Amino acid sequence: MSKYSEELTYSFTGQVAPPVRETRIGVCAAYCGECSELISDVQSGCAQLQERKFAQSGGCQLGLAVGIVSSLTNVVVIIHSPLGCCSGFVGSGGLRKTMRASKGKRDEDFVWIHTNLDEMDVVSGGIPKLRDAILYAEREYHPDAIVIANSCVPGIIGDDIDSLVSELDGRLSARLVPVHCEGFKSRYVASGYDSAYHGVLRHLIDPLVKYEKAVPDENQELRDRLRYSRVVNILNVGSNSNGDEVELSRLVSALGLEPRVIPLHTSLDDLARLREAALNVSICATHDDYLLGHLKERFGTPYIIDTLPIGITSTSRWLRLIAEFFHLEAEAERLIELETADLREALKPFRKVLEGKKIFVGGGETRIITTAEFFAKELGMKLVGIKAHNIDRFVEEIGPDLLGDELHVNVAAGQPAEELAVLTQLKPDLYCGHSGANGWVSRIGIPNLPLFGQALNYMGYGGAYELARKAVKALKNTNFVKNVSNNVSLPLRDSWLERDTKLNIKEAAAV
Ligand code: SF4
Repeated sequence: MSKYSEELTYSFTGQVAPPVRETRIGVCAAYCGECSELISDVQSGCAQLQERKFAQSGGCQLGLAVGIVSSLTNVVVIIHSPLGCCSGFVGSGGLRKTMRASKGKRDEDFVWIHTNLDEMDVVSGGIPKLRDAILYAEREYHPDAIVIANSCVPGIIGDDIDSLVSELDGRLSARLVPVHCEGFKSRYVASGYDSAYHGVLRHLIDPLVKYEKAVPDENQELRDRLRYSRVVNILNVGSNSNGDEVELSRLVSALGLEPRVIPLHTSLDDLARLREAALNVSICATHDDYLLGHLKERFGTPYIIDTLPIGITSTSRWLRLIAEFFHLEAEAERLIELETADLREALKPFRKVLEGKKIFVGGGETRIITTAEFFAKELGMKLVGIKAHNIDRFVEEIGPDLLGDELHVNVAAGQPAEELAVLTQLKPDLYCGHSGANGWVSRIGIPNLPLFGQALNYMGYGGAYELARKAVKALKNTNFVKNVSNNVSLPLRDSWLERDTKLNIKEAAAV
């Protein structure tokens, strides 16, 4: 993984659904050990074959895919499924409202419709119900796009939603977007990103007209033309805040470039302008490599997938890569010097409190590595371990680079029992983790703070200051977690908590 990511190739074959991540990038979901071993096991392919003996829960890619497409302006999402697949959407839409409000956009509800497939539909097919739902959405809401999120049942019984879309194409004012996010296809929730963007790419982002068709990337003329545009698309993610977007845009603007934050929380017109960028820049490889690879194929737009701009080192690395593309290296160095000198001064009081304290970070792979690196290298904390949802090739380079070979790594999405055992043994003073984990961590008395939050700033230099400030605040008064821990029992035996967590992993050869 590196700048411009020339080595990645994507083949947009016109298939109705994307390949799942198991086959596309190879993902490790079960690991417990040292960082260096993990990376060599990922490279050899062994890590991807590991399983665990006792596993608690997983996730469904449908929820993630709907989260992506539902952020677009004036869309209706139809969940084509039995009742249960939608249970998580009741009362949801808060993120959409928060982000739209913070961006000063018109308030919009999250409008979703459900086809409520039953036993008869399983026998006779769910297409008639889906057709009714599409026509209802068009009539009642007049959306710009109607997204159909396909679930396991229609996927298994063979509902041909793409033929229905072809049948209705041109008869509706809304654009129809089938998204094949059937949960059974992949055990990796992040496959939902690919499913959502596959639908968006096929149905909402128009191909180039003939006279402006992209020429091969090696063509210097094209490169020069694209650089001349100065537009940089910053690919946002569901976990960033508007404050993060403002901060990253500020830094890119300071280089004399024109940042555009896309694709979440944007309109169809904004998506149509994706092609205008000279460069697409990822802030999270897990989120958008599939989209960026295809945009390069279709429009010839180069892209950068590297680190997530959290903390001083990673933000500077992210900026340098953008600057290098535009030959703005000297400008970037001046900017970084200016920004970091003040920031390091401002961090000194926080460093005094945090130095030497033990920290553990859990969540998405790229995010935890950059966050952990900031706590360890800039704030002097002792990093005792990280827990990643998954590990794939996107962290092969930045992992050991930022954290060192000896670090304890647990790869375990949805495994709180295993994570609690790791934490009980490593005994960190502070835990920084993905939403959902903090409640469990409080029960074992470890002060904690969230890894991300849509109302908070984490990215860029401004985010680094906020993150340090939040860590200090979490340690200032730890009575809350002490009280929780003293008064709430865990549903886990001491023997489990004290047991070597490596014993829960089935090595590849033994699978
Ligand atoms: S795994 Fe299948 S049935 Fe379960 S929520 Fe996901 S799409 Fe629905």
